[in-house]
Amino acid sequence: MKHLIDIMDLSVGEISELVDTAQDIIAHPEQYAHSCDGRKLATLFFEPSTRTRLSFEAAMYELGGHVLSVPGGNTSSAAKGESVADTARVVSCYADIIAMRHPKDGAPFVAAQSSLIPVINAGDGGHNHPTQTLTDLLTIYREKGRFDHLTIGLCGDLKYGRTVHSLINAMSRYPGNRFVLISPEELKLPGYVREEVLEANNIEYAETADMEEYMPQLDILYMTRVQRERFSDEQEYLRLKDSYILDSAKLEKAGPDMCILHPLPRVNEISVAVDSDPRACYFRQALCGKYIRMALILKLLRENDGVPAGSRVIPSQKRLVNVLRCRNPRCISGVEQELDQVFVLTDPKKNTYRCLYCENEAEETPQPGNANS
Ligand code: ASP
Repeated sequence: MKHLIDIMDLSVGEISELVDTAQDIIAHPEQYAHSCDGRKLATLFFEPSTRTRLSFEAAMYELGGHVLSVPGGNTSSAAKGESVADTARVVSCYADIIAMRHPKDGAPFVAAQSSLIPVINAGDGGHNHPTQTLTDLLTIYREKGRFDHLTIGLCGDLKYGRTVHSLINAMSRYPGNRFVLISPEELKLPGYVREEVLEANNIEYAETADMEEYMPQLDILYMTRVQRERFSDEQEYLRLKDSYILDSAKLEKAGPDMCILHPLPRVNEISVAVDSDPRACYFRQALCGKYIRMALILKLLRENDGVPAGSRVIPSQKRLVNVLRCRNPRCISGVEQELDQVFVLTDPKKNTYRCLYCENEAEETPQPGNANS
């Protein structure tokens, strides 16, 4: 494993290994204080962040390493029009590992194609956020002691909430997990996650707009913020933003051991009164983010020691190159210089092609015979 772009880049065994390392770091931090002496992490954040960026930076400092950082996307050459590919190639000359956050879906994937050092996706648009998922997994393990046979409620913005997409992918690999998808109609889970993760793997799930309906059955309630920055219509955001507010009254229906998670920041989705409820785990979750990122940096640097990271291996399915155009306005393929438009065949029975970068479904159906790979 050379880069972490998608949580599925990690096997279940590697996830266990990271969780074990993080637990060991928590127990014996002094043993890791010099593990990354002389190594440099570049944090390239082209979108706002508090927890992810600071936990990456704190992680590298606590491993004895250094951090190189541009204070914001606007002050880097990206503001002059530099491509993501060029930025990654150049930063490879100065650092040993990159953590990248970008507003465009698929940008860290593109960075990984040209980077000579490992790239970690620290959140790409409304697509994925694998290190938040590692944080969630460490928290779940510490709170629940297992990853399997859990009923997991995901509530809020399931459409644009990238942490939700990565978490469903991850938890779908453990046996016996069930999902309750709680959202307004407009913010339902994207088809590529529902069909190709849940349905394709015969995973039990329910969809509801009512946050209390399944509350007594939940082992985990994962609250999310409505992702204002992904809306093209502000009025739509204002209409939906307070769809769900978890308060003490609603929690009366929940079991005594239900674990409340939230990737944070919260805007209004969890009443402050809930913070003192023993089931509220979200601040402990934020702390887990630092330890699991320490484990991840260690793993990637060790595995790539002395070996140029090289391009990320891309899926081997049949693909169409420069035949279709991605219509997702948030996809990196719409803005990156000279990037091929690549669509991958994800469901041969339905002839479904998805964009390689953002996973949105092709809007046109390719004509027989024009597949070129
Ligand atoms: N911090 C998380 C993210 O970057 C959740 C959020 O912003 O709502 O996706």
